[in-house]
Amino acid sequence: MNNSNSSSNNNITSYPAETTLDERDGRYLRKAIVWSHAARRRGNRPFGSVIVSAAGEVLAEAGNSNAETGDCTAHAEINALRALPGRKLTREELAGATLYASGEPCVMCAGAIFWSNIGRVVFGIDAERLRVFRGERQDQRDAELSCRDVFLASPHAIECIGPALIDEASAAHDGAWKT
Ligand SMILES: [Zn+2]
Repeated sequence: MNNSNSSSNNNITSYPAETTLDERDGRYLRKAIVWSHAARRRGNRPFGSVIVSAAGEVLAEAGNSNAETGDCTAHAEINALRALPGRKLTREELAGATLYASGEPCVMCAGAIFWSNIGRVVFGIDAERLRVFRGERQDQRDAELSCRDVFLASPHAIECIGPALIDEASAAHDGAWKT
């Protein structure tokens, strides 16, 4: 611990406002949050993701598996996206799908979501609030580029909703970044 540690956290004066979800989005985001707890119980960072079709079918769901696999790209969103090909979905079907993520997608996952052609993202805790849990340890810091900046650079529209259910999405992170 050093002095910059607490002061940098305290310097964050405004966080993104919470978005209120409808029943359906709330249901699936809570499912992603359940996966975040499951990932933590298995020794991974607490993130979960669920991909749902326009008709409401769960197409893929996954937790983060960085620690289990040693794969730095094994984020929940990537793991869920990698479960999709067996579904043989058209680009139109993917455009109508929603990816739910317990935490705001990082720049890598935002890029993968772009390539997937998925047209809608709903996330729980935002990157700014997550940084308080991550602390200032250099190896736990994220690249500070919002997923929205990646989506805005996309030639096809990617709707992005969040942060949402912040308290529920935060719970899995409490005490999870100490080691
Ligand atoms: Zn990621």
